[in-house]
Amino acid sequence: MNYCSHCGQPLISRIPEGDNRHRFVCDHCDRIHYQNPRIVAGTIPVWEGRILMCRRAIQPRHGYWTLPAGFMENGETTVEAARRETLEEALAGVRIEGLYTIMHVTHIDQVHMFFRASLLDGEFGAGEESLEVRLFAPDDLPWDEMAFPTVQESLSHFIEDSKKEAFPVRVTDIQRRLGQ
Ligand SMILES: [Zn+2]
Repeated sequence: MNYCSHCGQPLISRIPEGDNRHRFVCDHCDRIHYQNPRIVAGTIPVWEGRILMCRRAIQPRHGYWTLPAGFMENGETTVEAARRETLEEALAGVRIEGLYTIMHVTHIDQVHMFFRASLLDGEFGAGEESLEVRLFAPDDLPWDEMAFPTVQESLSHFIEDSKKEAFPVRVTDIQRRLGQ
């Protein structure tokens, strides 16, 4: 941040009185601009034992496979965000079955949350941010072409848990990028 979103004056970075970390502070209007992690919400949509994935039509990771997911909007719940992203990216209506993964991606200040979900009617298609959307059998998932570590991690837990038909919530930290 360079300028105050309230008064337009330049911001400086310093530790405000009573705080213990650097913040962007406006000395003109005395506002402190806090920055906090952003939440990405998505689904693992299943239809007849297969998993719906989207091939990305946008950067980053253009051409790689992902689960439908995206940044929460103000005024919606995590469930609503996950359902909306699935409709936008995969043109698929889903019933949310339950929270499955909460992953802290601290190197980019994000929290990713994936919900287990079922397609309502088996209908889907490529939304504007997808090149292609298709169902994958568990044995055919494109592990070498996954877009993000949180997608890979959610799916690998999901495949293992599917064998036991028990899906405990997984809370993990993701400290890496794919290919590193
Ligand atoms: Zn200001």
